[in-house]
Amino acid sequence: MKLIIDMHTHTIASGHAFSTIEEMAAAAAAKGLRMIATTDHGPAMEGAPIAMFFSALLMLPKEISGVRVLRGVEANIVDYDGSLDLPQDVLKRLDFVLAGFHEVVLRPSKDRAQNTRAMINVLENPYVDAISHPGNSNYPVDIPAVARAARERGKLLEINNNSAVVRPGSEDNCRRIAEACRELKIPVICGSDAHTSFNVGAFSNTQKILKSVNFPKELVLNTSVRKMTKFLNGIRKRGLK
Ligand SMILES: [Zn+2]
Ligand SMILES: [Zn+2]
Repeated sequence: MKLIIDMHTHTIASGHAFSTIEEMAAAAAAKGLRMIATTDHGPAMEGAPIAMFFSALLMLPKEISGVRVLRGVEANIVDYDGSLDLPQDVLKRLDFVLAGFHEVVLRPSKDRAQNTRAMINVLENPYVDAISHPGNSNYPVDIPAVARAARERGKLLEINNNSAVVRPGSEDNCRRIAEACRELKIPVICGSDAHTSFNVGAFSNTQKILKSVNFPKELVLNTSVRKMTKFLNGIRKRGLK
């Protein structure tokens, strides 16, 4: 399966990543990608950019090195009510909003019911499109319940390539998330979570997970720019073409 879009990438602006947006786009072009989402960490993470950075993303061209660049964020879930670290009026103007749990921002909890409630509340935020690395085993959730919530709200769950490396113990959860989405016939998005240009479009772990559960290709949005933009426009009008 050819994945021509990477929906989760970081630049040097995140504070602990190494490449500029120009380097990320050039590397994506060299690898044959057609689109990337630039999704630096939200302001609650140490070293991450201030809120104004995300408003200023709109100054970037929509295409760099021939690659479509979605101006996005990976917002931090800052409490177990599902609050995020950027105001709604900033999120609203972005092309793509990921939100996820991060250990350095919110102390992990093994309370599955609480984590599930938080994640579902995040999915209820009208400006959130997808949950990043929902399989993180430090924040266990009721996977079928989260998948049903994603379906009801027309939102997305990510199959994160980096989880196998930086979130050990998450592989089983990632597989179960893929299975739950397959059962409910809801699409997934794939993200490399690249923190260097060398890793943009790296999907070997994601591909392995999808293959292991016979995930249908037509439900992987990263195979087509048209399919991806249509789905995102369906979540809320944002005029992506
Ligand atoms: Zn993350
Ligand atoms: Zn990330």
